[in-house]
Amino acid sequence: MVSRAKPLANEGKVADYIPGLANANPEALSIAIFQEDEKCLSAGDVEEKFTLQSISKIITLALAIMDAGEEKVFSRVGMEPTGDPFNSIAKLESMVPSKPLNPMINAGALVVTSLISGETVDEKVGRILTLVHDMTNNPTIGISHEIARSEYETSHLNRALSHFMKQHGVIEGDVEQNLETYTKQCSIEVDCKDLARIGMVLAKGGKDPDTGREIIPSYIARIVKTFMVTCGMYNASGEFAIKVAIPAKSGVSGGILSLVPNEMGIGVFSPPLDQKGNSIAGVKLLEILSSHFKLSIF
Ligand code: GLN
Repeated sequence: MVSRAKPLANEGKVADYIPGLANANPEALSIAIFQEDEKCLSAGDVEEKFTLQSISKIITLALAIMDAGEEKVFSRVGMEPTGDPFNSIAKLESMVPSKPLNPMINAGALVVTSLISGETVDEKVGRILTLVHDMTNNPTIGISHEIARSEYETSHLNRALSHFMKQHGVIEGDVEQNLETYTKQCSIEVDCKDLARIGMVLAKGGKDPDTGREIIPSYIARIVKTFMVTCGMYNASGEFAIKVAIPAKSGVSGGILSLVPNEMGIGVFSPPLDQKGNSIAGVKLLEILSSHFKLSIF
């Protein structure tokens, strides 16, 4: 399956709008599958590390709902998919109040990050990392400070979105500190096995697959998985739901976190992206896997 998907990567382009991402190895392709009995199966360049980028949006959404409650979070961010790109500013002005459409686009994720408890950037980032450590069972995971700095220094669009929402009272608190927290959450460095285990925790309704301990309340895991289906692949979520038909969340580093409810967590990685910002070979690999093993949730 990996060798069938690999040639497609040549059609894509590695993200370079964040300078630190431009150095990614375009040849890398990896997959890991975490299942209850067989533990973790993997293939390809499984040791390659990459940053979470937009995949972090599902972690921070879970944490913000745990911290601030469902009602407050969804008073600031909507639940509807969008046909616009993930970093679009266009719809904000037409929404009254200028509430972002959903937590998976950048505007929505910036609001979500602002709702995480903590007095300082370090405290908030520390709490996000703790949740990542719990979900991956990998306490060695940290942040690529080089990629975080490179994004923070070039975040003109995310800065514009933030100031617009601050002006309209959707974001409270310090805009720069929130951007710093956001760029650090995006720069958390993982491999595809880590993604697969996060997927498995969500597949298990928020429970640790080894110990059964609740990491995320099941109603929050359900909300997160629903957003993965409706908005997880940006403005390609509809096509992905038809062709692959399992919850997934992608990031511009080329990672995709996916899962089959109750059964498995899946992590894939291949940096070259299509025009909507999804990993071309990663999507193909998930499509082959889903059709071969009949994984569709529908
Ligand atoms: N850090 C990236 C950004 O804000 C994440 C976007 C993505 O992965 N789609 O632009």
